[in-house]
Amino acid sequence: MIPYSKQFIDDKDIDSVVKVLKSPLITQGSYVPKFENKVARRCGSKYSFAVNSATSALHLACLALDLKKGDIIWTVPNTFVASANCGLYCGAKVDFVDINIKTYNICIESLSRKLEYAEKKNKLPKILIPVHFAGQPTKQDEIWKLSKKYKFKIIEDASHSLGAKYKNEKVGSCKWSDITIFSFHPVKMITTGEGGMLLTNDKRVASKVEMLRNSGITRNNKLFKVKNREAWYYEQQLLGFNYRMTDIQAALGLSQMNKLNKFLSKRKKIAKKYNNLLSSLPIRIPEVEKKAKSSFHLYVVRLADYSPKSYKKIFNYLRKNGVGVNLHYLPVHLHPYYRSLGFKEGDFPNAEKYSSEALSIPIHYELSDNEQEKIVSKILAIL
Ligand SMILES: *Cc1c(COP(=O)(O)O)cnc(C)c1O
Repeated sequence: MIPYSKQFIDDKDIDSVVKVLKSPLITQGSYVPKFENKVARRCGSKYSFAVNSATSALHLACLALDLKKGDIIWTVPNTFVASANCGLYCGAKVDFVDINIKTYNICIESLSRKLEYAEKKNKLPKILIPVHFAGQPTKQDEIWKLSKKYKFKIIEDASHSLGAKYKNEKVGSCKWSDITIFSFHPVKMITTGEGGMLLTNDKRVASKVEMLRNSGITRNNKLFKVKNREAWYYEQQLLGFNYRMTDIQAALGLSQMNKLNKFLSKRKKIAKKYNNLLSSLPIRIPEVEKKAKSSFHLYVVRLADYSPKSYKKIFNYLRKNGVGVNLHYLPVHLHPYYRSLGFKEGDFPNAEKYSSEALSIPIHYELSDNEQEKIVSKILAIL
């Protein structure tokens, strides 16, 4: 089976990890800060914190922005459940904004309308979490403008979009957001096994996140509440967690960052070839906006002219014939857990329609020309 995505690990990655394994410190050594600096420099943010998953990064981001019981967060239904769950971890209420049916990202018009209505009802969100779906950045400058008007914070879920750009601005610079988070799960742009990172330019957010990922502890005597300079002294000031990344993982991430440009150009090349080979078929190929540079984490085609029965037939045929197709995503609000909170079919029509037609076909660094042609010929055959 050709998977829809997978990691690429070479000998340099392995050497980097082995070096840590042979060193005295396998966690909290020098590799985590090295990896953090490398990502921050690449993206142009002031601060960066490696954690053990993007889910943890989202949780810490909400906590650092003081999300509490009774507050409201908004995200999109077309995402992995973690983008919404982080709000629930903090006792906040979660609601969704429908997607644009061309980009599959948050619909700016729906967002504007929903904000206008929420202001009247006194139900404005404290935080909005836009998702750069498939690697295409959202219209972040427009969302930023709305956040100033309606006074909400922004966490960019950039799990798909390390290396992407919008209006020449790198995703992760936090120019148009308070916080950006990345995932380093093996299917994402680079991997650390499991892992994530939180980027920000906000000093207050940074000092909170630093403590929160380490059980709420600080060892910085400038921050102590009780004046004490003994060598053994430290303070827990917040209720934090152990969300730390190990040096073993950071060594892998650091080495993977050296390949990010290669990963990006290969994915772009694959996407271009799919565009050429598939554009004459009765399916919708991805639309990337002029001002956006996608990282092509996913390549999603839409079977807009086929019935649900045909969709099922096509999906199963491709799987049976070695093409690891997938669906990104089942709308979050239709999972049983979210239905139990009151969401139902019909709440977000674009995300629901999209999800009944969307098909992720394989795109990853090691995908060969032969494999790509096989995938296309199988698609042709079943269509
Ligand atoms: C993968 C992913 C996450 C969660 O990442 P983990 O590192 O697995 O916790 C969150 N949001 C989106 C959009 C993702 O694709």
